[in-house]
Amino acid sequence: MGKKVLVFADRRDGVVRQVTYESIAAARLIVGDGKVIVAVLGTDGKKEVESLAHYGADHILLLEDGQLDTYITDAYFLAWQYVIDQVKPDVILTGHTTIGKDVAPRIAAHFDFGLISDCTSINMVGEEITYTRPIYAGKAFVKKTFVSGTQFSTIRPNNIPTLDLDTSRSATTEEISVEIKKDRLRTIVTQVVKKATSGIDLSEARIVVSGGRGVKSTEGFQPLQELADVLGAAVGASRGACDAGYCDYALQIGQTGKVVTPDLYIACGISGAIQHVAGMSSSKVIVAINKDPDAPIFQIADYGIVGDLFEVVPLLTKELKKVIQ
Ligand code: FAD
Repeated sequence: MGKKVLVFADRRDGVVRQVTYESIAAARLIVGDGKVIVAVLGTDGKKEVESLAHYGADHILLLEDGQLDTYITDAYFLAWQYVIDQVKPDVILTGHTTIGKDVAPRIAAHFDFGLISDCTSINMVGEEITYTRPIYAGKAFVKKTFVSGTQFSTIRPNNIPTLDLDTSRSATTEEISVEIKKDRLRTIVTQVVKKATSGIDLSEARIVVSGGRGVKSTEGFQPLQELADVLGAAVGASRGACDAGYCDYALQIGQTGKVVTPDLYIACGISGAIQHVAGMSSSKVIVAINKDPDAPIFQIADYGIVGDLFEVVPLLTKELKKVIQ
């Protein structure tokens, strides 16, 4: 039987993020002969319609409202609530991103929906939808199902492959408006101050070069940045490096930092504490560079290099430059 699957698009700076396409792919797996409906919040959503359709959306709801251009919890809560009331979906999917993590529990509590968060895969087993998510800091996975009611799930970025681009697909669109009264907003964003970054989003990066306390200083991150530049990678860090003041906490990967699932994770001068591993153990290939042969990171690494990162990393960069550039 067909289902109504509602996907809330996740946008950053007006651009739909990769995890939205991954959520649409998950939606197509379970929709049967129903509809995949994608809600796009904020101005200029029309420019996303074609691409969303090509990757599997059937119907697109556009909430063109400037108040939704910057993330504000109360505004998004009101908008999501309105969309859910209109659509009455069987299943709701969204990214396990800063926005998804904040709004989803509020919405679930408001509607009394069950919520399975941080899913790494979704499958149909007979008529039943099974949601897989990590537990114990990524050491094990559980498969869950909903017993009743609307099924609500957040999707961990970089885990579910997007569908192949199909330019023959099209979607219907509908513009809807929700009244977001100023007095319903307990907080507003007055200014967004952006930090200078490499431009590659850590959570969605295909390659991550990460540094730990072994990097020893802010300058010590420079060789890692150079390697990242050659690979088109994002730079990440352990909490050890952040706590030592070598880099910004925005780079922290782990249990209390970002969760990443790149194709390649290069850990430099990181011991491999369980709290760090929780944020990167699902990486497809892990390379560890550490001068201590007994460092725990080698237990989860696919490739290990025992050596001084200040020798190994520049050598890697030099050799990779020959083949990549
Ligand atoms: P260290 O453990 O000090 O390791 C440094 C490594 O660098 C060593 O293995 C050393 O051999 C190697 N090294 C030194 N010099 C060189 C060199 N020149 N070349 C090569 N290798 C070298 N940590 C996180 O990362 N993310 C989290 O989200 C997180 N959350 C936490 C939450 C809680 C509640 C707690 C209690 C801890 C958390 N931690 C987290 C901290 C975690 O337990 C570790 O302390 C931290 O990950 C250690 O960082 P590190 O590996 O960089 O440093």
